[in-house]
Amino acid sequence: MAKISINLATGSLQQEEIIVGIDLGTTNSLVAFINPDKKPQVINDTGKGLLVPSVVYFNAKGDALVGNEAKEFLITDPANTIFSVKRLLGRSYKDVAGHQDTFSYKIIDDENDSLVKIKVGDKFYTPIELSAEILKELKARAEHALKTPVNRAVITVPAYFNDSQRQATRDAGKLAGLDVLRIVNEPTAASLAYGLGLDPNQQKTIAVYDLGGGTFDVSILSIQNGIFEVLSTNGNTFLGGDDFDRSIVHYWIEKNKLDAAVLAQDSGLMQSLRLKAEEAKKALSSQNLFNEQIGDIWCTLDKQTFEQLIAPKVAETLNSCKQALTDSKLTAAEIDEVVLVGGSTRTPYVKAQVAEFFGRYPHDQINPDEVVALGAAIQADILAGNRSDILLLDVTPLSLGIETMGGLMDVIIPRNAKVPTKAGRQYTTSIDGQVNMKISVFQGERDLVQENRKLAEFDLKGIPAMPAGLPKVDINFMLNADGILTVQAIELRSGVKQEIDITPSYGLTDDTVEKMLIDSITHAKSDVEQRMLIEARSEGEQLVYTAERFIEKHGSFLTAAEIADTGTHIKALKAALAKAEKDEILKKADELNEFTRPFAERVMDVAVSSAMKGKSIDK
Ligand code: ADP
Ligand code: MG
Repeated sequence: MAKISINLATGSLQQEEIIVGIDLGTTNSLVAFINPDKKPQVINDTGKGLLVPSVVYFNAKGDALVGNEAKEFLITDPANTIFSVKRLLGRSYKDVAGHQDTFSYKIIDDENDSLVKIKVGDKFYTPIELSAEILKELKARAEHALKTPVNRAVITVPAYFNDSQRQATRDAGKLAGLDVLRIVNEPTAASLAYGLGLDPNQQKTIAVYDLGGGTFDVSILSIQNGIFEVLSTNGNTFLGGDDFDRSIVHYWIEKNKLDAAVLAQDSGLMQSLRLKAEEAKKALSSQNLFNEQIGDIWCTLDKQTFEQLIAPKVAETLNSCKQALTDSKLTAAEIDEVVLVGGSTRTPYVKAQVAEFFGRYPHDQINPDEVVALGAAIQADILAGNRSDILLLDVTPLSLGIETMGGLMDVIIPRNAKVPTKAGRQYTTSIDGQVNMKISVFQGERDLVQENRKLAEFDLKGIPAMPAGLPKVDINFMLNADGILTVQAIELRSGVKQEIDITPSYGLTDDTVEKMLIDSITHAKSDVEQRMLIEARSEGEQLVYTAERFIEKHGSFLTAAEIADTGTHIKALKAALAKAEKDEILKKADELNEFTRPFAERVMDVAVSSAMKGKSIDK
């Protein structure tokens, strides 16, 4: 087990290179570093400000614009302006269904478990690619301000992010040309910024209250021997400062007796009202009255009214705090420290309510919208080995994972994870009646397993024959303190199980590790492109398979014309698959999906009504 730093330009081992801390936020993102005075500092690329709005705009040529410049297009060109992409990162359509109306751009619904994609013009982007655009901008700003290449970073994520969302964040970093040394929980970073957890003898319980632009979460952490543990988290991913703005807009609409029908037609006016509302909200964090006009609309708001407007939302956040305490089996009195995070905690009413709930004044000395990035910079500094007072734990030098469809590497334990550690993920079959599943274990950073190091392979046998997608196979990786990896596969419905032990470090020299890391960075872009093509292909092939099965089984519910047209769509998709063009495949897949969706519903309705008919009512 080792920790290796490499100079990407020369390929040699190097210690001094800067590692930045990045807060990749839903609303705003920022990058920080440890300055020569050993203090964390947010990078302000001359004149551009500290916060980079997490907004990406694509112009007609398909070039991306990020940050404040992109934000302006939210009004003039909403379909090509992507905001809040963090909500979609590592998510499948199922996860975000029901929230489509919060997004002004098109999210592709392919009705399955695969990750969402966003359609801009004729191109399809994954949230990973879009997040990478934001990270590229942060990287460029840091390089410009520090006048040095920046290749390594620590990136923060919410504590509630699952494995897939964390992996997606890593991939975004990689795509932006960053070597992501660690993914750190936002509440952990915020605590570090306040110096909590830096003293190894400290033992504390901390509540971190994070109210951002569109999301709220509270985390209860415990620190012991410099190790943070998340005891519980709670929150609402659709509650934040934007809701405060909306309440103000509604209030002004009522006060000015504006006609709803007129407003619905005038999206420009709505947007101006929203911006004015945000201005008012911010002003009321330091004054008692806001009084301005938009044309002849009076935009007046006093602090007391504002607090009445937001009280229900704030009460909701406190309910989450209550739940988080219950889940961690603690009372408010047992919390040693409370930390405020997120721009919306600048609102004095929010601060006061949180203080009252926990019965103590929260830490608020550091700017709440910077605190996570500052803490990430401290974590980066610790990883760089610049803090001799802090114990560095053993970490895995390379990622460990398994081969999935199309020869892709699916990382289960990421590189630089502290050991001992365990992680797992659920998989399923891709063919009807599949009874065996081959599990191949690999080590390395490349997207294709063929470029990585194969550690072992075994078959999970005896899966009961079921339709594709029904079996649930849990694959668990357990890496113990001695570096021995146990891989276990278990089919949950039948209980069929298989397990092996491997020593990943066997025969692995520092030189090999170094070379593998350098290769992964130099090939990052082509790797990700290949991965996306393979994923698009697997999806396309799966869709052809399902559509053909569907026609076979349920053809009787369709007209001859419908069957013929479905055939045409399938043919088009097959042609795209043969051409191996990512966007073309996704486009044809989307069209086939759109075309057949009503059929599936029809069959479902019939199935439901026949089930109802068959249901006995004598009881
Ligand atoms: P995220 O973590 O979601 O990216 P931030 O922590 O940057 O978001 O918080 C953004 C939110 O903070 C926005 O709703 C913004 O209006 C709000 N905000 C920023 N400054 C203030 C202020 N002075 N008073 C109240 N709210 C503020
Ligand atoms: Mg945040």
